[in-house]
Amino acid sequence: MDLFEHEARDLFEKHDVPVPRGRVAADPAAAREAAASLGGPVVVKAQVKTGGRGKAGGVRVVHTADDAEQAADDILGMDIKGHTVHRVLVTEASEIAEEYYVSFLLDRAGRTFLAMASTEGGMEIEEVAATKPEALLRVPVNPRDGVDASAVAAAFPPDVREEAAEVVRKLWDVFVAEDATLVEVNPLARTTTGIVALDGKITLDDNADFRRPASFDDPHDGDPLEWSARQQGLNYVKLDGDIGVIGNGAGLVMSTLDVVAAAAAEAGARGPANFLDIGGGASAEVMVAGLSVILGDSQVRSVFVNVFGGITACDAVATGIVRSLEVLGDRATKPLVVRLDGNNVAEGRLILEQAAHPLVTVVATMDDAAREAAKLAIAEV
Ligand code: GDP
Ligand code: MN
Repeated sequence: MDLFEHEARDLFEKHDVPVPRGRVAADPAAAREAAASLGGPVVVKAQVKTGGRGKAGGVRVVHTADDAEQAADDILGMDIKGHTVHRVLVTEASEIAEEYYVSFLLDRAGRTFLAMASTEGGMEIEEVAATKPEALLRVPVNPRDGVDASAVAAAFPPDVREEAAEVVRKLWDVFVAEDATLVEVNPLARTTTGIVALDGKITLDDNADFRRPASFDDPHDGDPLEWSARQQGLNYVKLDGDIGVIGNGAGLVMSTLDVVAAAAAEAGARGPANFLDIGGGASAEVMVAGLSVILGDSQVRSVFVNVFGGITACDAVATGIVRSLEVLGDRATKPLVVRLDGNNVAEGRLILEQAAHPLVTVVATMDDAAREAAKLAIAEV
């Protein structure tokens, strides 16, 4: 789970990392109030989970509460790389002398944690890594010993190293205590009042969700259907094609995507519109939830349901499909191609045949079913 900048800011504050004072606002009037209460020049910043907000016009330094209101009015509703701005963070403005970069991340390839630091802050770190790799210091971090903060701060000018090392130590505290897989500060700014974290990005390890008192999940976060699916405990990912894909088990769903992509390319369809893994227990309830999510995607023109009966046998899955179509009624409008195999396959196919739902086509093999779904996706309706 990626956090918003203001959530990262709050976690920094909790661990004594120096951050500017700030408040979140959802409308221009609240931004004005925030600016007035902070006093002096402020920065109005789009809260979206993507970088490059500055370049996109989503970060504005202003000098009065009036201007803060206007800036918020301009920024709210803005689209930044496909993310709509629903809130702004209003912070006191800092006078920046230099912009640095520092981060902690999980280095999967190196099977360890890694600290990275650079005096080339403010710009995208990928760009620094590509054009000026020598300007990016990498220090492996052994989780048992913790970070050698002085070694990381060696990336910075001698006169700020001690102060920067202290911040690095606290950022490692954030990384460990909050179960993060990424803590990034860009820029870590050298200002007239010392070293300050002016922009933070934190990715929390979802495996530690059970240890967190409150969820950071947010309805404004990403695709609305993905959010609704998450609320129902479904594994749903939005893609950009026209064929909805439902399967049980990650492996089967992955190979279904490949087969659908190939069949779509052959037929002139666009490919998978999404994928939904209904997991092991493909009960009627899960089918109803899954199909409503998939059919809620306006790009979907046909749906491929690919199920391999295991612990949940094919007849139970077939019953789930029939019941969910009953429950959905008029809301089910797209053709479904169903391929069942495995445990109790004959019984399952029989149930679907007897139900004879006009939207359902049963196809015996995965390849043929994918072709049928692709054909239906490009059919005139
Ligand atoms: P990003 O573009 O999404 O990474 O957003 P940032 O929060 O990093 O802001 C982009 C840039 O805005 C920073 O690199 C700074 O140059 C500038 N900026 C951010 N906060 C301040 C501030 O308090 N004062 C000044 N003068 N500039 C700021
Ligand atoms: Mn930044």
